[in-house]
Amino acid sequence: MQKHLLYVVLTLVSLSITQAQKPKTPSSSEIYESIQKLNFLGSVLYVAAHPDDENTRLISYMSNHIKARTAYLSLTRGDGGQNLIGPELRELLGVIRTQELLAARRVDGGEQLFTRANDFGYSKHPDETLEIWDKDKVLSDVVLAIRNFKPDIIINRFDHRTPGRTHGHHTTSAMLSMEAFDLANNKTAYPEQLDRTSPWEPKRLFYNTSWWRYGSKEAFDKVDKTNMITFDIGTYYPLKGMSNNELAALASSQHLCQGFGRLSQRGSQTEYIEFLKGTPLENNENIFSGINTTWSRIEGGKAIGTILYNIEENFNFKNPSAHIPALLEAYKLLQKIDNTHWKTLKTKELKVIIEMCAGLYLEASASTNWATAGDVVDVSLEVLNRSETPIKLLSIANISDINMSKNINLENNTSYTFKEVLKIDDNATPTTPYWLDKKGTLGMYRVDDNTLIGKPESPRRYTVDFNLLIENTPITFTKPVIQRFSKPDKGELYRPFEIIPEASAKIKENVIIFENNHQQDITVIVKAGRDNLEGDIEICHPEDWNIYPKKQKVSIAHKGEEQTLIFTVFPPTNQSEGLISPIVHVGDKDYSKELIEIDYEHIPFQTVVLPSESKVVRLDIKKYGENIGYIQGAGDVVPESLQQIGYNVRSITPDEIDAETLSRFDAIVVGIRAYNTLDNLQFKQQQLFDFVANGGNMIVQYNTSYRLKTDNLSPYNLKLSRDRVTDENAEVRFLAPNHDVLNFPNKITQKDFEGWTQERGLYFADEWGSEFCPILSMNDKGETPKNGSLLVAKHGKGHYIYTGLSFFREFPAGVSGAYRLFANMLSLGKDDIRESLKLED
Ligand SMILES: [Zn+2]
Repeated sequence: MQKHLLYVVLTLVSLSITQAQKPKTPSSSEIYESIQKLNFLGSVLYVAAHPDDENTRLISYMSNHIKARTAYLSLTRGDGGQNLIGPELRELLGVIRTQELLAARRVDGGEQLFTRANDFGYSKHPDETLEIWDKDKVLSDVVLAIRNFKPDIIINRFDHRTPGRTHGHHTTSAMLSMEAFDLANNKTAYPEQLDRTSPWEPKRLFYNTSWWRYGSKEAFDKVDKTNMITFDIGTYYPLKGMSNNELAALASSQHLCQGFGRLSQRGSQTEYIEFLKGTPLENNENIFSGINTTWSRIEGGKAIGTILYNIEENFNFKNPSAHIPALLEAYKLLQKIDNTHWKTLKTKELKVIIEMCAGLYLEASASTNWATAGDVVDVSLEVLNRSETPIKLLSIANISDINMSKNINLENNTSYTFKEVLKIDDNATPTTPYWLDKKGTLGMYRVDDNTLIGKPESPRRYTVDFNLLIENTPITFTKPVIQRFSKPDKGELYRPFEIIPEASAKIKENVIIFENNHQQDITVIVKAGRDNLEGDIEICHPEDWNIYPKKQKVSIAHKGEEQTLIFTVFPPTNQSEGLISPIVHVGDKDYSKELIEIDYEHIPFQTVVLPSESKVVRLDIKKYGENIGYIQGAGDVVPESLQQIGYNVRSITPDEIDAETLSRFDAIVVGIRAYNTLDNLQFKQQQLFDFVANGGNMIVQYNTSYRLKTDNLSPYNLKLSRDRVTDENAEVRFLAPNHDVLNFPNKITQKDFEGWTQERGLYFADEWGSEFCPILSMNDKGETPKNGSLLVAKHGKGHYIYTGLSFFREFPAGVSGAYRLFANMLSLGKDDIRESLKLED
């Protein structure tokens, strides 16, 4: 079902998906809109905390209606979220969400910026957030974003005046934006930035308010709005055949891993922004009032404006190339102005417009999407002029050491192709997101190269310069090397060209659980980044563990192929945990990193190179009940984890649920958010409750309290809330210390709540029938105790359990206590059954 939904969403946004990966093929109306934007010299910076916080309606309106250069500064990359479309979590989820933001901006016309702040998980208050973020660094990055982007207007998504009302990251984003507004023009603030950027004074700061800030639409109607500006964000764009709201829905539907695929809306709709500080508004109509947004804003700009406004006024939709002589005139004048900010910005825009008007097609396509240091790669170059404009290809540079002189007149619509070779530097480092290159802290990414801070992604390592003479003006167009290829079932595809290590290795399981002291075989996969890879591999391990053999030979004939090796791990006799990591020796080089591929249709293919390590955990665990049916909800790896501790786990879909199927299981475990994501599970509740009454156990993991698809979550009264405990070290108090779930077969102690990761849990129940026994109590600092994290009810001969504890996070992190507690949940009442079965034998 989930797949089906996803398919529908993907179909809806297929237009933008193809644009996400392929080069643009702009139409006349798109060229015209680019000229309109070229002729608007004003900018807006939108500030919030996470990918998907941004109001795409407003960003799209600023970019497409007002024509302002618009950017979204997301303080984080959203690593702390959940993933609805795949297994990636933490930093890999951050990579996906970074790309989803870029995909959204390709739709709404904005740009994307970040800080080094890490989305470490939920925090309830900005004080809590700033205990984990390095405030000075994040503020410095917001100041840097303002100095680099130079916005006239800043709009905060969140209210800086209401800490505690929303996610702490949200309020913090607004607070830091307020502070940075005042600091950006102060030369004594972060002076080290000033050798690569210059101070800047934004004109005004707004808050993107809404009725929900006031509790209800009625309350908002009564609010004094003299300080507010309104926009009709439902405005229709005939050139696009779409209204602003429809475009915004397409943009926010890029956040697929967060389940943001949504319907579009049409018709007039009002959006509000509230003036917070800066130069007071002269009228409430125009956020740019008092700001010169014409070409006369810059010294020497007036003459450029005269040319470009004339083109906009008299745009030739049938033959845009007719404007090239005038565009070149403007281009030459632009090169003479002193203001480097505007010169750089507008030159870039103007070049794209000239390229589009001439119907230029410039491509450097490698024969592979992967190469290693020292490689030589075939590259096909294509150069095409689709206009009557006289254009000469002077040379192609950057592809090898030499500048290849060509001197070819490009005839209209004649394709010129060249085969060249690209020599990869011997010391080229693998392509990976720059913010993941070095290990950071819980709250901050580490970025050693200052010039990368704020950039959405790592700059492309290999690009090709096409040096053209257009009429008599030399212009260089730089294109990244890509791979263009086709698949019979997908059509034409594009992939970024990337550098990978010549050898990478991973242990198949991230966490290997030993439920007893039996040895286990582990699978190690070595991947060759080049042909004829020869070497050997060993596994580093903690002292009290042993791994055999000590070394194995690696021999792989072809690039891209993998070799699978089996090692045997011997755990110690007592409870213990540690890290093991593979090292491949090739010649005098060691490789200890893993190559991760992220491949989704709505974002470009990503490769990430991360240290390869797996956690080994020797558990002291006992368990009863063997066969588990698992109903996947939003997706989690709980089934794999339970398999690791010796359970037989079978995935079942709601359609398969009937008394006969259920009778095969000792317990049914419901995956996270199943009642939020599965449409037909609600119709199977009675059968599940009957299964419990007959002696089965049913464990329901967290569901969100809103968008629940059933009122009938449990056989007894049970109400979910938004209660959560975000401090993973919060004290856990035992409300029912003698309950079996804390004693049998594993004695649960405080030690079992040590080493938890990210949070204790979320969406706890806050109301339940007397049949339920609350087991644990916990709370975040300064809050009242929350007792609904683990509730057990006896129902007939079995047990119904609701738990908001984050087992889905703790299992993949190999947290021993989480396994022991879950084993107890599954074992409830099972000792009797086990004993009686034994008697029958
Ligand atoms: Zn958020």
